[in-house]
Amino acid sequence: MKATRTAYSTSLNAGKHAALVEQARRLGRVRSEVWQRYGSVGGVGSGLTDRQVRDRWLADGTHVRFGVLANAWKETVRDAMADIAANLAAAKVKVRRAITRRTNDPAERKRMFTALAVDRWAEDPFLARQVRKHWKRGRNRTHDQIVVRADQYNTVVDGRGRLWLAVPGLQRRQMVRIPLSTTVAPAGTLRLILRGGRVEVHYQIDASQMRSSQRPCGGRTVGVDKGYTEALTDSDGDRHGTRLGEMLSSESDRLKERNRRRAKLRSIANTAACRGDHAKARRITANNLGTVKRDRQAARHRAGVRTEIFTAVHRVVDKAATVVAEDLTKTFAGRKTLGKNVNRRLAAWTKGVTAEALTNVSERRGSALVHVNAAYTSQTCHRCGRLGRRTGDRFHCTPCGVVWQADVNAAINILQRAGDPDIALHTPYHTVRQILRDRTDRHRARLPVQDSSPAVAERRANHPNRSAMSR
Ligand SMILES: [Zn+2]
Repeated sequence: MKATRTAYSTSLNAGKHAALVEQARRLGRVRSEVWQRYGSVGGVGSGLTDRQVRDRWLADGTHVRFGVLANAWKETVRDAMADIAANLAAAKVKVRRAITRRTNDPAERKRMFTALAVDRWAEDPFLARQVRKHWKRGRNRTHDQIVVRADQYNTVVDGRGRLWLAVPGLQRRQMVRIPLSTTVAPAGTLRLILRGGRVEVHYQIDASQMRSSQRPCGGRTVGVDKGYTEALTDSDGDRHGTRLGEMLSSESDRLKERNRRRAKLRSIANTAACRGDHAKARRITANNLGTVKRDRQAARHRAGVRTEIFTAVHRVVDKAATVVAEDLTKTFAGRKTLGKNVNRRLAAWTKGVTAEALTNVSERRGSALVHVNAAYTSQTCHRCGRLGRRTGDRFHCTPCGVVWQADVNAAINILQRAGDPDIALHTPYHTVRQILRDRTDRHRARLPVQDSSPAVAERRANHPNRSAMSR
Protein backbone atom coordinates (compact mmCIF):
# COMPACT_ATOMS: atom_id res chain seq x y z
CA MET A 1 0.00 0.00 0.00
CA LYS A 2 1.17 3.48 -0.92
CA ALA A 3 0.88 6.90 0.68
CA THR A 4 1.27 10.18 -1.19
CA ARG A 5 3.84 12.79 -0.15
CA THR A 6 4.08 16.32 -1.53
CA ALA A 7 7.09 18.62 -1.87
CA TYR A 8 6.80 22.26 -3.00
CA SER A 9 8.97 24.46 -5.15
CA THR A 10 10.43 27.51 -3.48
CA SER A 11 11.15 30.81 -5.30
CA LEU A 12 11.01 29.26 -8.76
CA ASN A 13 11.82 31.82 -11.45
CA ALA A 14 9.03 32.96 -13.76
CA GLY A 15 10.63 31.70 -16.98
CA LYS A 16 10.99 28.14 -15.70
CA HIS A 17 7.48 28.22 -14.28
CA ALA A 18 6.06 29.40 -17.62
CA ALA A 19 7.95 26.61 -19.47
CA LEU A 20 6.51 23.97 -17.13
CA VAL A 21 3.01 25.43 -17.43
CA GLU A 22 3.31 25.24 -21.23
CA GLN A 23 4.49 21.63 -21.08
CA ALA A 24 1.59 20.72 -18.77
CA ARG A 25 -0.85 22.47 -21.13
CA ARG A 26 0.40 20.44 -24.11
CA LEU A 27 0.23 17.22 -22.09
CA GLY A 28 -3.34 18.19 -21.17
CA ARG A 29 -4.13 17.90 -24.88
CA VAL A 30 -2.60 14.42 -24.87
CA ARG A 31 -4.89 13.49 -21.98
CA SER A 32 -7.94 14.92 -23.74
CA GLU A 33 -7.11 12.86 -26.83
CA VAL A 34 -6.84 9.68 -24.74
CA TRP A 35 -10.17 10.34 -23.00
CA GLN A 36 -11.79 11.23 -26.29
CA ARG A 37 -10.73 7.99 -27.97
CA TYR A 38 -10.70 5.43 -25.16
CA GLY A 39 -12.71 6.92 -22.31
CA SER A 40 -16.09 5.54 -23.21
CA VAL A 41 -17.92 2.22 -23.56
CA GLY A 42 -16.33 1.68 -26.97
CA GLY A 43 -12.79 2.41 -25.74
CA VAL A 44 -11.43 0.39 -22.83
CA GLY A 45 -14.16 -2.15 -23.58
CA SER A 46 -12.12 -3.00 -26.65
CA GLY A 47 -9.36 -4.05 -24.24
CA LEU A 48 -6.46 -1.83 -25.28
CA THR A 49 -3.47 -1.45 -22.96
CA ASP A 50 -1.58 1.82 -22.70
CA ARG A 51 1.34 0.17 -24.54
CA GLN A 52 -0.93 -0.72 -27.47
CA VAL A 53 -2.23 2.85 -27.52
CA ARG A 54 1.36 4.14 -27.65
CA ASP A 55 2.24 1.80 -30.51
CA ARG A 56 -0.83 2.91 -32.46
CA TRP A 57 0.00 6.57 -31.97
CA LEU A 58 3.59 5.98 -33.06
CA ALA A 59 2.33 4.13 -36.14
CA ASP A 60 -0.20 6.75 -37.25
CA GLY A 61 1.80 9.81 -36.14
CA THR A 62 -0.77 11.08 -33.62
CA HIS A 63 2.01 11.97 -31.17
CA VAL A 64 3.73 14.48 -33.48
CA ARG A 65 1.18 17.26 -33.17
CA PHE A 66 1.50 17.61 -29.39
CA GLY A 67 5.05 19.01 -29.53
CA VAL A 68 6.36 17.29 -26.39
CA LEU A 69 9.15 14.79 -25.78
CA ALA A 70 8.44 11.09 -26.29
CA ASN A 71 8.78 10.09 -22.64
CA ALA A 72 6.45 12.87 -21.55
CA TRP A 73 3.53 11.95 -23.78
CA LYS A 74 4.02 8.21 -23.24
CA GLU A 75 3.86 8.62 -19.46
CA THR A 76 0.81 10.87 -19.88
CA VAL A 77 -0.94 8.24 -22.01
CA ARG A 78 -0.24 5.64 -19.33
CA ASP A 79 -1.54 7.97 -16.61
CA ALA A 80 -4.71 8.89 -18.53
CA MET A 81 -5.42 5.23 -19.33
CA ALA A 82 -5.09 4.47 -15.60
CA ASP A 83 -7.60 7.27 -14.85
CA ILE A 84 -10.02 5.78 -17.34
CA ALA A 85 -9.56 2.32 -15.83
CA ALA A 86 -10.24 3.75 -12.35
CA ASN A 87 -13.36 5.44 -13.68
CA LEU A 88 -14.57 2.11 -15.07
CA ALA A 89 -13.67 0.26 -11.87
CA ALA A 90 -15.81 2.71 -9.87
CA ALA A 91 -18.71 2.05 -12.24
CA LYS A 92 -18.22 -1.71 -11.86
CA VAL A 93 -18.66 -1.44 -8.09
CA LYS A 94 -22.14 -0.07 -8.73
CA VAL A 95 -22.87 -2.75 -11.33
CA ARG A 96 -21.84 -5.47 -8.84
CA ARG A 97 -24.36 -4.06 -6.39
CA ALA A 98 -27.01 -4.14 -9.12
CA ILE A 99 -26.19 -7.81 -9.78
CA THR A 100 -26.59 -8.70 -6.10
CA ARG A 101 -29.94 -6.95 -6.07
CA ARG A 102 -31.09 -8.67 -9.26
CA THR A 103 -30.51 -12.30 -8.37
CA ASN A 104 -29.99 -14.57 -5.36
CA ASP A 105 -28.84 -17.51 -7.48
CA PRO A 106 -25.12 -18.03 -6.70
CA ALA A 107 -24.32 -19.54 -10.12
CA GLU A 108 -25.99 -16.69 -11.97
CA ARG A 109 -24.26 -14.11 -9.77
CA LYS A 110 -20.91 -15.74 -10.38
CA ARG A 111 -21.47 -15.81 -14.13
CA MET A 112 -22.25 -12.09 -14.17
CA PHE A 113 -19.39 -11.13 -11.81
CA THR A 114 -16.95 -12.99 -14.03
CA ALA A 115 -18.31 -11.46 -17.24
CA LEU A 116 -17.93 -8.04 -15.64
CA ALA A 117 -14.41 -8.70 -14.37
CA VAL A 118 -13.07 -9.83 -17.76
CA ASP A 119 -14.91 -7.06 -19.66
CA ARG A 120 -17.32 -9.38 -21.44
CA TRP A 121 -20.38 -7.52 -20.23
CA ALA A 122 -21.42 -6.39 -23.71
CA GLU A 123 -22.84 -9.85 -24.48
CA ASP A 124 -25.29 -9.81 -21.57
CA PRO A 125 -28.16 -7.32 -22.07
CA PHE A 126 -28.62 -6.68 -18.33
CA LEU A 127 -24.89 -6.11 -17.73
CA ALA A 128 -24.52 -3.95 -20.83
CA ARG A 129 -27.43 -1.80 -19.67
CA GLN A 130 -26.00 -1.45 -16.16
CA VAL A 131 -22.48 -0.60 -17.37
CA ARG A 132 -23.87 2.02 -19.73
CA LYS A 133 -25.97 3.45 -16.92
CA HIS A 134 -23.15 3.74 -14.38
CA TRP A 135 -20.15 4.39 -16.60
CA LYS A 136 -20.68 8.01 -17.46
CA ARG A 137 -18.65 9.28 -20.37
CA GLY A 138 -15.81 11.21 -18.78
CA ARG A 139 -13.61 13.89 -20.20
CA ASN A 140 -10.21 15.21 -19.30
CA ARG A 141 -10.10 18.17 -16.95
CA THR A 142 -6.40 17.98 -16.16
CA HIS A 143 -4.23 20.57 -17.88
CA ASP A 144 -1.72 21.35 -15.15
CA GLN A 145 0.15 18.10 -14.59
CA ILE A 146 3.38 16.50 -15.80
CA VAL A 147 4.14 12.87 -14.96
CA VAL A 148 7.87 12.11 -14.78
CA ARG A 149 9.19 8.55 -14.66
CA ALA A 150 11.81 7.65 -12.05
CA ASP A 151 14.66 7.38 -14.57
CA GLN A 152 13.88 10.74 -16.20
CA TYR A 153 14.82 13.13 -13.39
CA ASN A 154 17.57 13.65 -10.85
CA THR A 155 18.06 15.52 -7.61
CA VAL A 156 21.10 17.45 -6.44
CA VAL A 157 21.90 19.21 -3.15
CA ASP A 158 23.76 22.50 -3.70
CA GLY A 159 26.51 24.04 -1.52
CA ARG A 160 23.93 25.75 0.69
CA GLY A 161 22.08 22.52 1.38
CA ARG A 162 19.21 23.31 -0.96
CA LEU A 163 17.61 20.43 -2.87
CA TRP A 164 17.20 20.87 -6.65
CA LEU A 165 15.00 18.68 -8.81
CA ALA A 166 15.87 18.55 -12.53
CA VAL A 167 13.07 17.40 -14.86
CA PRO A 168 12.94 17.26 -18.68
CA GLY A 169 11.67 20.40 -20.44
CA LEU A 170 10.21 20.76 -23.91
CA GLN A 171 13.56 20.34 -25.69
CA ARG A 172 15.81 17.29 -25.54
CA ARG A 173 18.72 17.50 -23.09
CA GLN A 174 17.37 20.73 -21.58
CA MET A 175 16.43 20.03 -18.01
CA VAL A 176 14.36 22.44 -15.91
CA ARG A 177 15.90 22.77 -12.44
CA ILE A 178 13.37 23.33 -9.64
CA PRO A 179 14.47 24.39 -6.11
CA LEU A 180 12.46 22.48 -3.48
CA SER A 181 11.45 23.54 0.02
CA THR A 182 12.38 20.17 1.49
CA THR A 183 15.60 18.26 2.07
CA VAL A 184 14.01 14.84 1.49
CA ALA A 185 14.51 13.88 -2.15
CA PRO A 186 11.34 12.62 -3.84
CA ALA A 187 11.52 9.10 -5.28
CA GLY A 188 9.72 6.94 -7.83
CA THR A 189 7.33 8.34 -10.43
CA LEU A 190 6.66 12.05 -9.87
CA ARG A 191 3.51 13.98 -10.58
CA LEU A 192 4.24 17.69 -10.96
CA ILE A 193 1.17 19.86 -10.46
CA LEU A 194 1.43 23.51 -11.51
CA ARG A 195 -0.86 25.25 -9.05
CA GLY A 196 -0.98 28.63 -7.39
CA GLY A 197 2.23 29.89 -9.04
CA ARG A 198 4.39 27.06 -7.71
CA VAL A 199 5.16 23.44 -8.46
CA GLU A 200 3.77 20.69 -6.26
CA VAL A 201 5.79 17.50 -6.52
CA HIS A 202 3.60 14.51 -5.61
CA TYR A 203 5.17 11.10 -5.16
CA GLN A 204 4.34 7.85 -3.43
CA ILE A 205 6.09 6.13 -0.57
CA ASP A 206 5.59 2.63 0.73
CA ALA A 207 3.01 3.00 3.52
CA SER A 208 4.42 0.04 5.46
CA GLN A 209 7.50 2.18 6.17
CA MET A 210 5.39 4.87 7.87
CA ARG A 211 5.61 4.93 11.64
CA SER A 212 1.83 4.73 12.06
CA SER A 213 1.81 1.48 10.06
CA GLN A 214 4.08 -0.20 12.61
CA ARG A 215 1.57 0.22 15.43
CA PRO A 216 -0.19 -3.09 16.11
CA CYS A 217 -3.99 -3.20 16.06
CA GLY A 218 -6.06 -4.15 19.10
CA GLY A 219 -7.74 -7.48 19.77
CA ARG A 220 -11.47 -6.77 19.94
CA THR A 221 -14.41 -6.37 17.60
CA VAL A 222 -15.73 -2.81 17.61
CA GLY A 223 -18.68 -1.25 15.77
CA VAL A 224 -18.44 2.35 14.58
CA ASP A 225 -20.98 4.93 13.46
CA LYS A 226 -20.17 8.05 11.52
CA GLY A 227 -21.50 10.94 13.55
CA TYR A 228 -22.37 14.56 12.91
CA THR A 229 -20.17 16.29 15.44
CA GLU A 230 -17.39 13.72 15.67
CA ALA A 231 -15.73 11.54 13.05
CA LEU A 232 -16.66 8.25 14.69
CA THR A 233 -18.53 6.95 17.73
CA ASP A 234 -17.77 3.36 18.68
CA SER A 235 -19.88 0.65 20.31
CA ASP A 236 -18.05 1.18 23.65
CA GLY A 237 -19.46 4.71 23.71
CA ASP A 238 -16.12 6.38 22.95
CA ARG A 239 -16.02 9.32 20.57
CA HIS A 240 -13.14 9.91 18.19
CA GLY A 241 -12.30 12.98 16.11
CA THR A 242 -14.43 15.23 18.30
CA ARG A 243 -13.19 18.44 16.67
CA LEU A 244 -14.61 17.46 13.26
CA GLY A 245 -18.05 19.07 13.64
CA GLU A 246 -16.53 22.34 14.81
CA MET A 247 -13.99 22.31 11.96
CA LEU A 248 -16.68 21.71 9.34
CA SER A 249 -19.15 24.27 10.63
CA SER A 250 -16.54 27.02 10.97
CA GLU A 251 -15.26 26.24 7.46
CA SER A 252 -18.82 26.31 6.14
CA ASP A 253 -19.47 29.70 7.80
CA ARG A 254 -16.18 31.05 6.47
CA LEU A 255 -16.97 29.89 2.93
CA LYS A 256 -20.45 31.39 2.96
CA GLU A 257 -19.13 34.72 4.20
CA ARG A 258 -16.26 34.73 1.71
CA ASN A 259 -18.48 33.78 -1.22
CA ARG A 260 -20.86 36.59 -0.25
CA ARG A 261 -18.01 39.11 -0.26
CA ARG A 262 -16.62 37.81 -3.55
CA ALA A 263 -20.04 38.09 -5.19
CA LYS A 264 -20.25 41.69 -4.05
CA LEU A 265 -16.79 42.52 -5.39
CA ARG A 266 -17.58 40.79 -8.66
CA SER A 267 -20.67 42.94 -9.08
CA ILE A 268 -18.64 46.08 -8.34
CA ALA A 269 -16.10 45.00 -10.98
CA ASN A 270 -18.88 44.31 -13.49
CA THR A 271 -20.48 47.70 -12.85
CA ALA A 272 -17.10 49.39 -13.35
CA ALA A 273 -16.55 47.50 -16.61
CA CYS A 274 -20.01 48.55 -17.86
CA ARG A 275 -19.18 52.20 -17.08
CA GLY A 276 -16.01 51.77 -19.12
CA ASP A 277 -13.64 51.78 -16.12
CA HIS A 278 -11.76 48.68 -17.22
CA ALA A 279 -8.69 49.50 -15.15
CA LYS A 280 -10.73 49.30 -11.97
CA ALA A 281 -12.41 46.07 -13.05
CA ARG A 282 -9.03 44.52 -13.81
CA ARG A 283 -7.62 45.69 -10.47
CA ILE A 284 -10.45 44.09 -8.52
CA THR A 285 -10.19 40.86 -10.49
CA ALA A 286 -6.43 40.67 -9.99
CA ASN A 287 -6.18 41.80 -6.36
CA ASN A 288 -9.43 40.72 -4.75
CA LEU A 289 -10.80 37.84 -6.77
CA GLY A 290 -7.68 35.69 -7.14
CA THR A 291 -7.67 31.97 -6.49
CA VAL A 292 -4.18 31.32 -5.10
CA LYS A 293 -4.91 32.20 -1.48
CA ARG A 294 -8.39 30.72 -1.66
CA ASP A 295 -7.05 27.40 -2.99
CA ARG A 296 -4.27 27.21 -0.41
CA GLN A 297 -6.72 27.86 2.43
CA ALA A 298 -8.99 25.15 1.06
CA ALA A 299 -6.07 22.71 0.83
CA ARG A 300 -5.06 23.48 4.42
CA HIS A 301 -8.60 22.88 5.67
CA ARG A 302 -8.82 19.60 3.80
CA ALA A 303 -5.49 18.47 5.24
CA GLY A 304 -6.67 19.33 8.78
CA VAL A 305 -9.92 17.40 8.40
CA ARG A 306 -8.09 14.40 6.95
CA THR A 307 -5.73 14.36 9.92
CA GLU A 308 -8.65 14.53 12.36
CA ILE A 309 -10.44 11.64 10.65
CA PHE A 310 -7.35 9.46 10.21
CA THR A 311 -6.41 10.00 13.86
CA ALA A 312 -9.94 8.98 14.88
CA VAL A 313 -9.69 5.76 12.89
CA HIS A 314 -6.26 5.03 14.40
CA ARG A 315 -7.80 5.36 17.90
CA VAL A 316 -10.46 2.79 17.00
CA VAL A 317 -7.92 0.39 15.47
CA ASP A 318 -5.80 0.77 18.65
CA LYS A 319 -8.38 -1.44 20.36
CA ALA A 320 -9.92 -3.34 17.45
CA ALA A 321 -8.81 -6.39 15.46
CA THR A 322 -12.10 -6.13 13.58
CA VAL A 323 -13.87 -2.85 12.81
CA VAL A 324 -17.53 -3.17 11.84
CA ALA A 325 -18.85 -0.21 9.85
CA GLU A 326 -21.41 0.90 7.34
CA ASP A 327 -20.18 0.91 3.74
CA LEU A 328 -19.74 4.67 3.48
CA THR A 329 -18.98 4.65 -0.24
CA LYS A 330 -22.41 3.31 -1.01
CA THR A 331 -24.87 6.14 -0.53
CA PHE A 332 -22.66 8.72 -2.13
CA ALA A 333 -24.92 11.24 -3.84
CA GLY A 334 -23.70 12.38 -7.23
CA ARG A 335 -21.76 15.60 -7.38
CA LYS A 336 -24.50 17.19 -9.42
CA THR A 337 -27.29 16.63 -6.91
CA LEU A 338 -25.37 18.46 -4.16
CA GLY A 339 -25.54 21.77 -5.98
CA LYS A 340 -24.13 24.79 -4.22
CA ASN A 341 -25.04 23.70 -0.72
CA VAL A 342 -21.77 24.07 1.18
CA ASN A 343 -22.77 21.92 4.16
CA ARG A 344 -23.91 18.99 2.09
CA ARG A 345 -20.80 19.13 -0.05
CA LEU A 346 -18.56 19.07 3.00
CA ALA A 347 -20.58 16.24 4.56
CA ALA A 348 -20.35 14.14 1.40
CA TRP A 349 -16.65 14.79 1.15
CA THR A 350 -15.90 13.88 4.79
CA LYS A 351 -17.88 10.68 4.36
CA GLY A 352 -15.56 9.74 1.49
CA VAL A 353 -12.49 10.56 3.61
CA THR A 354 -13.83 8.44 6.49
CA ALA A 355 -14.35 5.51 4.12
CA GLU A 356 -10.83 5.96 2.77
CA ALA A 357 -9.33 6.19 6.27
CA LEU A 358 -11.13 3.04 7.47
CA THR A 359 -9.82 1.02 4.51
CA ASN A 360 -6.35 2.53 4.55
CA VAL A 361 -5.62 2.29 8.28
CA SER A 362 -7.14 -1.20 8.58
CA GLU A 363 -4.98 -2.48 5.77
CA ARG A 364 -1.80 -0.88 7.04
CA ARG A 365 -2.20 -2.01 10.64
CA GLY A 366 -3.61 -5.44 9.90
CA SER A 367 -7.12 -5.12 11.32
CA ALA A 368 -10.14 -6.42 9.40
CA LEU A 369 -12.79 -4.03 8.13
CA VAL A 370 -16.25 -5.59 7.92
CA HIS A 371 -18.97 -3.73 6.06
CA VAL A 372 -22.53 -4.30 7.20
CA ASN A 373 -25.98 -3.21 6.10
CA ALA A 374 -26.74 -0.13 8.18
CA ALA A 375 -30.44 0.15 7.34
CA TYR A 376 -32.42 1.24 10.43
CA THR A 377 -29.37 1.02 12.72
CA SER A 378 -29.95 4.60 13.79
CA GLN A 379 -33.69 4.11 14.18
CA THR A 380 -33.88 0.94 16.27
CA CYS A 381 -33.17 0.35 19.93
CA HIS A 382 -30.14 -1.94 20.33
CA ARG A 383 -31.66 -3.56 23.43
CA CYS A 384 -35.19 -4.47 22.27
CA GLY A 385 -34.87 -4.03 18.50
CA ARG A 386 -37.95 -1.82 18.17
CA LEU A 387 -38.16 1.36 16.16
CA GLY A 388 -37.69 4.46 18.26
CA ARG A 389 -37.56 8.20 17.93
CA ARG A 390 -34.46 10.25 17.40
CA THR A 391 -34.27 13.87 18.51
CA GLY A 392 -30.90 15.49 18.00
CA ASP A 393 -28.27 13.30 19.62
CA ARG A 394 -30.80 11.36 21.72
CA PHE A 395 -32.63 8.17 20.89
CA HIS A 396 -35.88 7.47 22.75
CA CYS A 397 -37.14 3.90 23.15
CA THR A 398 -40.60 3.94 24.67
CA PRO A 399 -40.95 0.17 25.35
CA CYS A 400 -37.60 0.10 27.19
CA GLY A 401 -38.29 3.49 28.76
CA VAL A 402 -34.73 4.49 28.01
CA VAL A 403 -32.99 7.35 26.22
CA TRP A 404 -29.76 6.26 24.54
CA GLN A 405 -27.01 8.41 23.18
CA ALA A 406 -28.05 8.14 19.50
CA ASP A 407 -24.65 7.53 17.91
CA VAL A 408 -23.63 4.97 20.54
CA ASN A 409 -26.95 3.14 20.01
CA ALA A 410 -26.29 3.12 16.26
CA ALA A 411 -22.70 1.88 16.71
CA ILE A 412 -23.91 -1.03 18.88
CA ASN A 413 -26.56 -1.90 16.27
CA ILE A 414 -23.88 -1.84 13.58
CA LEU A 415 -21.70 -4.17 15.67
CA GLN A 416 -24.66 -6.56 16.10
CA ARG A 417 -25.33 -6.56 12.34
CA ALA A 418 -21.97 -8.26 11.80
CA GLY A 419 -23.38 -11.46 13.28
CA ASP A 420 -26.91 -11.07 11.97
CA PRO A 421 -28.02 -14.26 10.18
CA ASP A 422 -30.88 -12.63 8.24
CA ILE A 423 -29.63 -9.18 7.24
CA ALA A 424 -26.85 -9.36 4.65
CA LEU A 425 -24.86 -6.43 3.25
CA HIS A 426 -27.12 -5.95 0.25
CA THR A 427 -30.49 -6.88 1.78
CA PRO A 428 -32.89 -4.18 0.50
CA TYR A 429 -34.03 -1.47 2.89
CA HIS A 430 -37.70 -2.49 2.95
CA THR A 431 -36.79 -6.16 3.55
CA VAL A 432 -34.68 -5.13 6.55
CA ARG A 433 -37.65 -3.24 7.92
CA GLN A 434 -39.88 -6.30 7.52
CA ILE A 435 -37.30 -8.56 9.22
CA LEU A 436 -37.02 -6.16 12.15
CA ARG A 437 -40.84 -5.95 12.45
CA ASP A 438 -41.24 -9.74 12.40
CA ARG A 439 -38.64 -10.10 15.14
CA THR A 440 -40.27 -7.63 17.50
CA ASP A 441 -43.72 -9.14 16.79
CA ARG A 442 -42.44 -12.60 17.68
CA HIS A 443 -40.74 -11.14 20.70
CA ARG A 444 -43.97 -9.54 21.83
CA ALA A 445 -45.98 -12.73 21.28
CA ARG A 446 -43.62 -14.80 23.39
CA LEU A 447 -42.97 -12.29 26.15
CA PRO A 448 -46.10 -10.22 26.70
CA VAL A 449 -44.77 -8.62 29.93
CA GLN A 450 -41.08 -7.97 29.94
CA ASP A 451 -40.79 -6.85 33.51
CA SER A 452 -42.15 -9.32 36.03
CA SER A 453 -42.47 -6.81 38.85
CA PRO A 454 -46.09 -5.57 38.86
CA ALA A 455 -45.13 -2.37 40.66
CA VAL A 456 -42.68 -1.42 37.96
CA ALA A 457 -45.09 -2.45 35.21
CA GLU A 458 -47.77 -0.26 36.72
CA ARG A 459 -45.44 2.66 37.13
CA ARG A 460 -44.37 2.30 33.49
CA ALA A 461 -47.97 2.20 32.37
CA ASN A 462 -48.68 5.38 34.28
CA HIS A 463 -45.57 7.10 33.02
CA PRO A 464 -44.90 5.65 29.60
CA ASN A 465 -42.32 8.31 28.78
CA ARG A 466 -40.21 7.78 31.85
CA SER A 467 -36.65 8.05 30.69
CA ALA A 468 -33.21 7.39 31.99
CA MET A 469 -30.21 8.89 30.35
CA SER A 470 -27.67 6.26 29.46
CA ARG A 471 -24.06 7.20 30.01
ZN1 LIG B 1 -35.76 -0.63 23.45
